[in-house]
Amino acid sequence: MRASAIVVAAGSGLRLGAGTPKAFVPFGRSTLLGAALRTISAVTSIGEAVIAVPAGMETRARREVEAAGLQIPVKIAAGGAERQDSVRIALALTSVEAELVIVHDAARPLASVTMFEACLEQAAATGAAIVAIPVADTLKRVARDQNQDAIFETIPRAGLWQAQTPQAFRRRLLLNAHARAAELGIVATDDSELVEQTGARVAVVPGSLLNLKITTADDLRLAEALAAELLR
Ligand code: C5P
Repeated sequence: MRASAIVVAAGSGLRLGAGTPKAFVPFGRSTLLGAALRTISAVTSIGEAVIAVPAGMETRARREVEAAGLQIPVKIAAGGAERQDSVRIALALTSVEAELVIVHDAARPLASVTMFEACLEQAAATGAAIVAIPVADTLKRVARDQNQDAIFETIPRAGLWQAQTPQAFRRRLLLNAHARAAELGIVATDDSELVEQTGARVAVVPGSLLNLKITTADDLRLAEALAAELLR
């Protein structure tokens, strides 16, 4: 088997305020998790999937898997306290036969099949690849000062990119990166950072502004509108 997909879907989604874990929020014909699973089902080089969900949501997740029509073996596990813990738990359940692991956030329902394929192809060639987009806005570091948010500095945007998921790695490389992070107490918000810190080079392939991450209710509205447009 060439690739194992990890879908991290164990976040609470408090900032979304939907009253249900974010991955299970209705989206299009199903849910955010369902959208990610349907995309994965169309990536022919993915031979299995491991999904991390909030404890107690395993049965619900199994229904999403069935609805998405995934024809590959799927394991469902309770995730951890932080995203990094959820990835580590899922990673331990991936098959030793998988050469590559591709990690995806259920919070990004508009990632395309092409993005998965480009990441996997690049990771097969060089070991690690993520989708990302160049930063278009001017970035400011802001802090609270005298009861007012104020700019402390402007960060030159040249060379700055926004990391997205999917992110693909040789399985061995990602296992080593997570083991090292656990040993040294390194905490990161994506897997690429852990791999970068091992000294490995991580390639970047084109992401898209459309591959937005759902955090707030506004993000969800925007993604719903985009999905409706893309399906037209
Ligand atoms: O919270 P945030 O949106 O940054 O989470 C990114 C992704 O990581 C989401 O798909 C979320 O479900 C997942 N996650 C997880 N386990 C956690 C926290 C987040 O699987 N403990």
